[in-house]
Amino acid sequence: MQSIQTDAICLPIPDIYLAEVRFDNARETGTFIVEHMELSEDDLVYVTGPMQDKVGTVIDVIYHCKIRPSKYERVVAKIDTDLYGKFIPLEHLWVTFDRPCMDKDKMRLWFLSPLADGECVDTNGFTPFPLHDLDSFPISYIRAQRGESYYEEHRVVYICLDKSKGYAIVQGSEYYEVTFTYIDGKIHDIVCNCYCEGYCKHEYAVLLQLQDLIGHWMLDYDSNYRESEYMAAIDKTVAWNMSVSRRQKEIIRLTEDSYEGFIIYED
Ligand SMILES: [Zn+2]
Repeated sequence: MQSIQTDAICLPIPDIYLAEVRFDNARETGTFIVEHMELSEDDLVYVTGPMQDKVGTVIDVIYHCKIRPSKYERVVAKIDTDLYGKFIPLEHLWVTFDRPCMDKDKMRLWFLSPLADGECVDTNGFTPFPLHDLDSFPISYIRAQRGESYYEEHRVVYICLDKSKGYAIVQGSEYYEVTFTYIDGKIHDIVCNCYCEGYCKHEYAVLLQLQDLIGHWMLDYDSNYRESEYMAAIDKTVAWNMSVSRRQKEIIRLTEDSYEGFIIYED
């Protein structure tokens, strides 16, 4: 357990204390109650209340004071911004086949509060179709065009394929979650949690991004994926802002053959 260092004594962090949090986009700060969580300055967090959809930065922690808990909104999650493993740069993405480095549950918090609406299920029937033949995907022409624009604008900011289960985050007016199943070259289901009836542009953008990743010669998908049964990719600007730029030490090294990518080491 972390503790508070003073000149004379070492006190444990209290179970309940206060944190001062700044929200960059809103240029607002607030004081929030923290329960059973270890926070330090510069940690990224989510809170309850009007700011629940914003990522906040802890700017101060106040351990010893008299608190009336009902007066405050709460910190509900601390974002795990650690990112290390072997990556291959591909256009706007950093791609990895390292299973532990960009777990879906961890990465979801980079974009969405734990209080955000969850994934959707679709109880309509679905006819599987080959990923390489998107003409078989029953989406309207207009929506497919918009999805293509989303793909070209690099709005698929995270995508992960774990065995047959896929998950992606697409940046629209807000972040949307797309889940899908991919087995032996075929899409077996796909559903987005936006409010669109029928198949949507977010899903189409994800399918184009998946096509690109799986078909890209540079990733050598077949042999890499066969080994780990796992692939994940993150938008490089997001990775830089949320993780790499926040570190104190130089931690990126090119792999021996720099053409193969780079490794981010643990601090
Ligand atoms: Zn959607």
